[in-house]
Amino acid sequence: MCGIVGFIGQEPIVYDLVLGLTALQHRGQDAAGIVTFDKMFHTKKGLGLVSNVFEQRHIDRLRGKVGIGHVRYTTHGSNELANAQPIATSYPFGIAMAHNGNITNFAEMNKVLYDEYHTLPTTTNDLELLLYAFASELKNKDLGNITPNDIFDCVEVTQRRVLGAYSALAIIANHGLLAFCDPNGIRPMVLGKLETENGTRYGFASETVCFDHLGYQLIRNLAPGEMVFIDNNNQVHSRIGYQLPQHFCVFEFIYFAREDSIIHKRLVAGQRVRMGRALARQVREMGLKPDIIIDVPTSGYFAASGLAEVLGIPHHRGLVKSNYIGRSFISPQQSEREAIVRRKLNPIANTIKGKKVAVVDDSIVRGTTSRRIVQILREAGATEVYFISSAPPIINPCIYGIDMSVTTELIAAQKTIEEIRDYIGADAVIYQTLEDLQQIFSSLSTCMACLSGKYPTANPEIALKLIEQERLEHKKVATP
Ligand code: 5GP
Ligand code: MG
Repeated sequence: MCGIVGFIGQEPIVYDLVLGLTALQHRGQDAAGIVTFDKMFHTKKGLGLVSNVFEQRHIDRLRGKVGIGHVRYTTHGSNELANAQPIATSYPFGIAMAHNGNITNFAEMNKVLYDEYHTLPTTTNDLELLLYAFASELKNKDLGNITPNDIFDCVEVTQRRVLGAYSALAIIANHGLLAFCDPNGIRPMVLGKLETENGTRYGFASETVCFDHLGYQLIRNLAPGEMVFIDNNNQVHSRIGYQLPQHFCVFEFIYFAREDSIIHKRLVAGQRVRMGRALARQVREMGLKPDIIIDVPTSGYFAASGLAEVLGIPHHRGLVKSNYIGRSFISPQQSEREAIVRRKLNPIANTIKGKKVAVVDDSIVRGTTSRRIVQILREAGATEVYFISSAPPIINPCIYGIDMSVTTELIAAQKTIEEIRDYIGADAVIYQTLEDLQQIFSSLSTCMACLSGKYPTANPEIALKLIEQERLEHKKVATP
């Protein structure tokens, strides 16, 4: 998963890009990159956090009134600088592109690019497929007189050929800033604007929090298959390209997006509270009487508060998270992951001691974190621990960019709930039911493939197989 931003205006745009990416840092911490354009492309990419990658000397040379940026969370390919985005090309036209998502027909697209367009990807980044498919179509247009409709026609052909989930941004050199979404609108993208003394500045971002921090006003979410082009004269052009029924990623609401973002008119925090409320029924049915409810910081917070509200049980902060330790999720070895959880989370023993504790997390993926958390709570003196997941059991790999791609790693695909309870060492385990989640999102058409196995794009089997192979090659996969 990744985060993207793009801005165009009448003034230098680099500060909006850097600050915008910082607001999206939760979407990816492996690498960050920015490309701007004045008379040429200016690029800076680096591994790590936005604040570490961009120094003043880079900011000074990222000149131009249009630019795009990316924060990367490696799910496909390896975490090397060569795979960082955006990627720029000068043939057949100056185009710089960045995307958030995952292409599922990459083997086929590699062949198409080679056979039909005589282009070869130079990295393992699937963005290149999108970029070269689009660039190769543009080659057929009158390159001296490209119109917004030409650009849209080329995007539409690309959308028909390239399968998967992608929200993409591109600088079209000397013309403007392009945004488009995959036909199912799986990944988020919003359009916003800022009125300045020098005219209107337009921006695109994965999430609205980016606009909040920059003072931009939200205009709207892009629709599935939608293409928007802001030209150099600040004219906004838009068209619906290849559009299929919407399947917005429900995991954005469960875990990925920031709580204060608004997606498709829904506040993420509000949806999490609703997920928490829906869990109360099962707690009662099982006859559990927790003394306190705590959350796993930070993504379990709002679900815990929703649950506490319905049950009338106090919600306390029982675990403190250090924000300065790396991701546990990507550590290749199970033992390493468990150790990192302990370095990341510390209990408030006074709160936990002698209590029956219901602990709410957003999800159980591999079970590593959950198991360690149960241990930590017991060591802190909890008399009973009930582990509650605001997501239903994750039983299918995600082929659209969320980092859960191997079935053998998914604990709920391997074990029954009773076996999971036993494995993580809890006194009870409760998962959200798929039906309750569907009810919560009944007014938004979502992708729940990781929970239901219903993949919205064609031929998911091919992608599942390839992604799994790739994953097993790149990582020493631990089984739960
Ligand atoms: P587990 O118990 O399966 O080892 O870990 C579950 C934890 O992983 C939850 O706390 C959840 O917040 C986190 N998580 C879920 N999905 C992702 C993801 O895609 N990336 C990262 N870094 N963490 C995730
Ligand atoms: Mg978590």
